[in-house]
Amino acid sequence: MTEGQTNSAFTPRVFSGIQPSGGLTLGNYLGALKRFADSQNSGVESIFCMVDMHAITVWQDPANLRRATRELCAGFIASGVDPEKSVLFNQSQVAGHAELGWIFNCVARMGWMQRMTQWKDKAGKNSQNASLGLFAYPALMAADILLYHATHVPVGEDQKQHVELTRDIATKFNHDYGVDFFPIPEPVIEGAATRVMSLRDGTKKMSKSDPSDMSRINMTDDADTVAAKIRKARTDPDALPSEVDGLEGRAEARNLVNIYAALNDQTQAEVLADVGGKQFSEFKPMLADLAVSKLSPISTEMARLMETPDEIDAILRRGAERAREIADPVIRQTRDIVGMVS
Ligand code: ATP
Ligand code: MG
Repeated sequence: MTEGQTNSAFTPRVFSGIQPSGGLTLGNYLGALKRFADSQNSGVESIFCMVDMHAITVWQDPANLRRATRELCAGFIASGVDPEKSVLFNQSQVAGHAELGWIFNCVARMGWMQRMTQWKDKAGKNSQNASLGLFAYPALMAADILLYHATHVPVGEDQKQHVELTRDIATKFNHDYGVDFFPIPEPVIEGAATRVMSLRDGTKKMSKSDPSDMSRINMTDDADTVAAKIRKARTDPDALPSEVDGLEGRAEARNLVNIYAALNDQTQAEVLADVGGKQFSEFKPMLADLAVSKLSPISTEMARLMETPDEIDAILRRGAERAREIADPVIRQTRDIVGMVS
């Protein structure tokens, strides 16, 4: 069966999630949030989740987790995700994620998990001491997506491998049980900034959990902090090229050009046609101004929403109810397919 045939039976539906594992970064905004709002506005049914159960695969202080979940919800809304149009909720309020996650733990193979780059990166040399949850993370992520029979998953480049594993899990489940129950979801990785790099190291992804605050731009950074971080961002001594080929071997230069392009809804080539020949001393203040003009309305709105955490909690509870309406029948049918008596 081709993948087109498998998915044609399923209504197009978007699912994606973000961990409340720290403050939101410019990488999360360009690689995920900005695109979530576009997806919702294109009219496709969209489900967005604060994946708090993923966050606790590494230690989270409870008070910080609670705050980060609310702040993440504020970040979604301030970036244009409308909790009326989209389904917006936190994962742990919908028990189906854990339940389907367990079933997928029994579908996925140890070898598949051991190959995951995120596991290797995050567990590092100390893998014996990493949580079992961190290892099983991709099976829970497959459950997040497939619990809603989602067909499209907008993510940054770093999550491509996990969506591919989700496809493998769906395919194996359908094959093992002789059903055509789960769709084979497509990763959607688009735009000029699908992998925003650290400002300190052009070979490393910008991450909210990076110990160095100078490595990233936080959505809540004020204008002076954004300008200072961009000014100190690592670069090379050469002027900017006029064409994309000239970025070859210049990871840091490419990163700053990509960020500029994504913030301004331009391609790399369009940006370079304007700024080619400029020194970084001239380009960095342009980038800082652009970043501040795009991010400051969002951070102001996030701060406003954070003044009424009860309202955020009510939005999440309502979102979870709507999520359960979609998830419950899928879980019931999954139990039945597997042979669980109910
Ligand atoms: P952590 O360091 O805790 O893993 P993170 O910054 O990687 O945090 P996640 O919650 O793991 O954020 O990912 C949320 C979404 O943001 C995913 O779709 C991911 O692909 C995207 N994303 C994360 N970092 C980047 C980045 N540097 N560039 C583009 N997209 C990114
Ligand atoms: Mg991550």
